[in-house]
Parts: sequence; structure tokens; C-alpha cells
Amino acid sequence: MIRKKRMIGLMGAVAVLALGSVFPALADTVYVDASSLNFRNRPSMDTDAVLGRYERGTKLERVADRGEWSEVRAEGSKVTVYVASRYLTTTAPMANADAGQKAEESPYVDKTWEVGLDAAYPYASFSRISSGKAIYYQNGSEKRNGKVVCVNAGHGTKGGSSVKTQCHPDGSAKVTGGTTGAGATQAVAVSGGMTFADGTAEHEVTLAMAKVLRDKLLAAGYDVLMIREGGDVQLDNVARTVIANNNADCHIALHWDSTEKDKGCFFMSVPSNRTYRAMEPVASHWQSHNELGSCLVEGLKAAGNKIFSSGSIEMDLTQTSYSTIPSVDIELGDKKSSHSPETLEKLGDGLLKGIDRYFGF
Ligand SMILES: [Zn+2]
Repeated sequence: MIRKKRMIGLMGAVAVLALGSVFPALADTVYVDASSLNFRNRPSMDTDAVLGRYERGTKLERVADRGEWSEVRAEGSKVTVYVASRYLTTTAPMANADAGQKAEESPYVDKTWEVGLDAAYPYASFSRISSGKAIYYQNGSEKRNGKVVCVNAGHGTKGGSSVKTQCHPDGSAKVTGGTTGAGATQAVAVSGGMTFADGTAEHEVTLAMAKVLRDKLLAAGYDVLMIREGGDVQLDNVARTVIANNNADCHIALHWDSTEKDKGCFFMSVPSNRTYRAMEPVASHWQSHNELGSCLVEGLKAAGNKIFSSGSIEMDLTQTSYSTIPSVDIELGDKKSSHSPETLEKLGDGLLKGIDRYFGF
């Protein structure tokens, strides 16, 4: 019996080789048009058929088009593999500035897709940098709880600090200081962020934190909207906020502060300024921003993270000024704080606790 099976296997291999040599003239060039595409040793959805994954834009030679499945080989490779035909295109996918944006595989995820800034979204017209795409992870586990958390890794937009956006939708001036001073009506679209005392850029740490939090949220049953999955996404703070407003149930921007005291975690609360709190959409939502912020700080504290002072500082932010869902800028420490993997784990546990608390899970 064993002998016979081996024979069939060998014949199969010969057949594949023969196919490759019979059809080379028909080969056409195709490109992967999916955030990632599994390649397989046979035309089958079975997980054990998966050999690996191609990234978006990977150039392939199509040896045979068999309808649902295509037989392809990578440039310079003699081995042919199978991929789902619907993710192939004959024209190279447009090079976009955020080519680094791609979904990562997760055992909890059913499917992922890109979310851009729709011009029809309220306040979308206030954005100046909006060609990038966020990534939506739809939870596929039995624990799926129906809530969507937007995880916004602070900073990470090339050229973002040389473009300005309006601080408030009504054109009024900022009521507190910050990266942009009080009294200004225009602010930097996305600042570059600070550099930790050990030389690490803040945008790298916020991204690592976002990925830790994403995985914890997915494991807990949440859907996740990731604003950034790579070093650069062409979405300014207005675009990030408006995308979150229309695709998530809450929005959490991850940051570290620019002081050098290792002072602990706190959130940016909505300034207790009468005119600011009377301006829409702040008027209808400021209480939910502060409520979410308080929950996050409580969660962080419960997980054993250090909290700064009362746990909040009043700040007039673009994020808050345009948010129509509970939205918080959380500062997870400062330049002197540890950002080791262990620290990020502990912060992630705390943030998850806080989010659960906010939604009542
Ligand atoms: Zn920051």
C-alpha cells in the first residue's frame, strides 16, 4: 500500500512538472491584489495546503488559470504553487505611500479590509492628508462581542508636520496649549512625536503598543480598527478621527509624553472651558470622552501601571474636537519610561481592562 501511494505521489509531481513545461508560452504576469495572499501546494482551502503568503503587489508568473484557482510561480522560481484567482490582477496595484499597511494574520480574525476616508463622512473635508487606509479586523471567534475599538498608534505620517489643519470645526481658537499653542486656529496635521531618552522614536513605540493592544482586543472578542500597521500612514489627525467616528465604537490614541520624569500614565481630558464644551461635536460627546479616559486609567492602575497625579490633564486636541464617539488620547508614560516588551504587555492588559470596564464587560 505504501509503495502504491508513493507511486501516485511521484506521478502527481511528474504531472505538475509536465504542465509547467507544456504551458510556459501561455504564462502571463500577474500581481497580488490583497493585503496578503496564501499560496498553496494544491488548489484547496485546507489549512495544511498553505505553504506561505505573498504580500500585496508581489509579481507572479501565471502558468495556468483554472478559474477559481491559478497556478503561479514567483519571479525566478521554478516551483509552481496555487493561489485564489480573485486576488490576482494583471496591472500592478497602484503604488501608495503607505505600502507598509497590511493586515496581520490572527487566529481570531474572520476577515480584514481597508478603510479610507470617505468624503461623505461628516468633517471629512477638514482633513488635509487622507490618501492612506486604516485596517479593519473583523473578529471571527465565538467570543465576538459586537464592539469595535479604533486603535490609533500616535504619529507616523511622513510630511505630517509641514501641513496644517483647522483646530476646531467652527474655526475658533485652541483653548489650551500643547504641540500647538493656545489661541491658534490651525495646528500641525500630525506631529512627528518625541524621541525617548534611549533614542527610540515615539512613533515606533506607539506602533508596537498598538499591535500588543490589537491582539489582546481580538483575543477578548472585539473587532479592531487599526489606524496604522506600518511606519507611515498618510492619514492626519482629522482623518484618523473621522474614520474612527464612522467605523468604531470608541477611539484610543496611544502616546508617550515629552517630559523626562517617568511620571506614569494619564489621559488628555476635555478642557473645562465653557465655549469649548458648548461647541459641537464636543458638546454632545465630551462626557463620554472623559468617562472612557477615566476607565482606561482605572484599568491601567488595576493592572499595576504607574498613574500620573490625578490621571488626567486638560487638553484641547484635534482628536477631541472632531470626535463623535468616545475618544481619548492616552499618554502611557514619557521619555524616561520603559517601553520594554514586558512593559507594553502590562500596559496592554491595563488598557484592555479599561475598555472592558467602559463597555461593561
Ligand atoms: Zn505623542
